[in-house]
Amino acid sequence: MISGGPVAAPVAEAVLGLYLHIPFCDAICNYCNFNRGLLDAELKARYLVALEGEIARASEATPVDTIFFGGGTPSVLTPTEVETLLSVCRDAFDLRPGAEITLEMNPEGASNDRLHGYRAAGINRLSLGIQSFRDEELQRLGRLHSAGRAVEAFWTARAAGFDNISLDLMVWLPEQTVIAWMESVEQLISMGPDHASLYLLELYPNAPLREEMARGSWEQAPDEAAVEMYHCGLAALEDAGYRQYEISNVARPDHRSRHNLKYWSGGEWLGFGCGAHSTRGRRRWKNVSDIGDYAARMEAGEAVVGSSRELSDEERLTDTMFLGLRLVEGIDLGLIEARFGQDPWDRWGSKLEPFVAAGLLVREQRRLRLTREGMLLANEIMQVFV
Ligand code: SF4
Repeated sequence: MISGGPVAAPVAEAVLGLYLHIPFCDAICNYCNFNRGLLDAELKARYLVALEGEIARASEATPVDTIFFGGGTPSVLTPTEVETLLSVCRDAFDLRPGAEITLEMNPEGASNDRLHGYRAAGINRLSLGIQSFRDEELQRLGRLHSAGRAVEAFWTARAAGFDNISLDLMVWLPEQTVIAWMESVEQLISMGPDHASLYLLELYPNAPLREEMARGSWEQAPDEAAVEMYHCGLAALEDAGYRQYEISNVARPDHRSRHNLKYWSGGEWLGFGCGAHSTRGRRRWKNVSDIGDYAARMEAGEAVVGSSRELSDEERLTDTMFLGLRLVEGIDLGLIEARFGQDPWDRWGSKLEPFVAAGLLVREQRRLRLTREGMLLANEIMQVFV
């Protein structure tokens, strides 16, 4: 039996993150399984009014130190629209000085005016969806930008004053070889972003890309090559001064994503917009997913929460294990025992021991962490906690 348990350290003041979901895209990529739709100007205008209304009615005096505009493609917003949303956030919450304010952007929308406008509006961190620096790979993914446009977007952002930029790359693309992958990694390194995310392409069952792969006889490299891509990519980034801090994320010192760290380390956040998730204490809730339904509910003054539940102690414990093990530093077994009244090693040690013996997991005194090899098999290892 697990108890709520005493907490090891004094409880720190809750500092929230805010997530704003912008579900519109200029085109739909053939592999994408996110909650998004094609840009529709009229619906976008209604949606923004709804989003502002939802943030305003959640108003409370709690401090906020991160805001994240995610999507979809948040860069379909004009700088004025971003500024208005940020001003609503400032009015509704106690936005702390130095807060990290991130906007996800696609390279094709990265004009000089827009980037200067975002900077002036208060965005201080950009996350650019590059995916690849090879045109043929971008075309296979149905992306709207070219490799040249991606490079240009980065330098335009730097010139506009963005000193905290993250670049996303996707690995294990159709027809991608280890050499081609490393060309993208080397290109990224040569540009010197402050943070990078490396995402493995996951093909969901009905992804249009599957059909295109069949038509074009495109294949993904064998599993061993995907493993090599992951290892070689991270090794090159580390040689260049980046440090991996999560399964898919590396950063220069002091440039880890403060917002995303809340997701992995038991932080709290409020999500606004269609399909957005929120976490406060034991409570988890999710807004309705459909863009039109969300806007209509806000217009009618109705609730937009689609589902909500209180997590049991057992669920909170397994969540802590799942998410904490994504971090390179892993989890502190002593802190978890103090919090939940149960030593995770007593509970799962016999099932985890084979992974330790296989070099996938390391137990160092009171710390448990995945090795890099273990990170590639994280889903299998995490089954122990299900
Ligand atoms: S731009 Fe991003 S969110 Fe939009 S369809 Fe492509 S992958 Fe999905």
